Amino acid sequence: MTWRYSAFSLLKEGLSGQKGWEPAWRSPDSARSYDVIVIGGGGHGLATAYYLARTHGITRVAVLEKGWIGGGNTGRNTTVIRSNYFYPESVALYGLAHRLYRSLSRELNYNIMFAPRGMVSVCHTDAQMEIAARTVNAMQLNGTDAELFSAEDVRRVAPAYNFSPRARYPVAGGIWQGSAGTARHDAVAWGYARAASRLGVDIIQNCEVSGFIVERGRCRGVETSRGPIRADRVGMAVAGHSSVLAEKARFRLPINSYALQACVSEPVKPVLDTIVLSLGTGCYVSQSDKGELVIGGGLDRIPSYGQRGNLPTLEGVLAGVVEMFPSFAGLKLMRQWAGTVDVVPDSSPIIGESPLPGLFLNCGWGTGGFKAIPAGGTLLANLLATGRHTDISRPFDLDRFARGRLIDEAAGSGIPH
Ligand code: FAD
Repeated sequence: MTWRYSAFSLLKEGLSGQKGWEPAWRSPDSARSYDVIVIGGGGHGLATAYYLARTHGITRVAVLEKGWIGGGNTGRNTTVIRSNYFYPESVALYGLAHRLYRSLSRELNYNIMFAPRGMVSVCHTDAQMEIAARTVNAMQLNGTDAELFSAEDVRRVAPAYNFSPRARYPVAGGIWQGSAGTARHDAVAWGYARAASRLGVDIIQNCEVSGFIVERGRCRGVETSRGPIRADRVGMAVAGHSSVLAEKARFRLPINSYALQACVSEPVKPVLDTIVLSLGTGCYVSQSDKGELVIGGGLDRIPSYGQRGNLPTLEGVLAGVVEMFPSFAGLKLMRQWAGTVDVVPDSSPIIGESPLPGLFLNCGWGTGGFKAIPAGGTLLANLLATGRHTDISRPFDLDRFARGRLIDEAAGSGIPH
């Protein structure tokens, strides 16, 4: 009976333009001023707005999104969440995010489908194994759950992998993080949006920020496609478009924007219940709850704001995946896309006040910021609310490039995202 009723109401809503469904978040017109404006309705921007309201009690907040929320990298990524980074600063940052992710469904009362099913980075040579041993030791000293895997351990968690001794990249072992996993990316954006909206935050979509209101050397708001909106504190979480907006605020960021591609196969029965990355091919695969194989690899080489990516890169990634899992060669691809990622020379994010006082930055997550969303939001919210860093955000300030205190995570965990 319930089933019939649900099917009927589904049909009724479909035919009536879904007028009976309560929207998950409000879509108000923008006010003329707010206490805080957050530019960018991706995971980091929405999380920032949520923690401003929830932790700091600041609810006169607007999130301004030029398209639709989650339509940037947050809705385009391969959803890997892990915290096995190399340096203590990164471990503190990504460890905070990882801890918050574990309880996020409950916190937001929204199922983000966080599934900690482990991740293995496969090594292929003695030299890689030696580096892996050092990496695991460093990670364990920092308190991260990293483990050195033998080839047999890799076979146990990924039996479909190519273990042929004649393989181009034979398996020597790997780095394992058992607490790594995946979450539903849209749900992270929607969950934060719904929770923030309920606390009073205005989420304004189709509202592009085109410039900044600067008075007496301080940011006092933004110019938008819907007119000027004032606020004494502005946060910016626009990922690959950070340098575009920085230019409008008349400063430069050490960021290059690149396309990063991903694709999914047709759905198949469960064949892979962990995330597998090869240090040889630089490609990685997991299987979604729907059965699709979610595939990612390295960056397109030429800086670009394109959201499609080029074919040779995709071909290289797919060739790598077939080296790893020869049985996947017969699968059809369902979808392919790219996002514009903001890559910083030391592969670590930038969190802190910008050279324009009153404008605060959350950017530079490059290929790996989905896993950091709860921490990025917490830390930017704290900066906007208090004007001060916490011990976790301090090392990631823009001034590290002037002080020479880079946190070079490019190879620390040997993982390209
Ligand atoms: P976004 O989600 O991009 O949000 C920024 C928003 O700002 C966008 O919605 C955009 O429309 C908006 N915006 C831009 N300019 C303006 C403007 N002028 N005015 C108003 N709004 C504006 N990370 C991981 O941790 N794990 C992974 O497995 C992983 N895989 C990835 C795979 C791919 C293919 C890609 C592209 C990325 C991947 N990432 C991964 C990286 C991750 O997706 C990003 O680091 C993260 O989503 C960044 O979130 P964000 O909120 O900062 O940016």
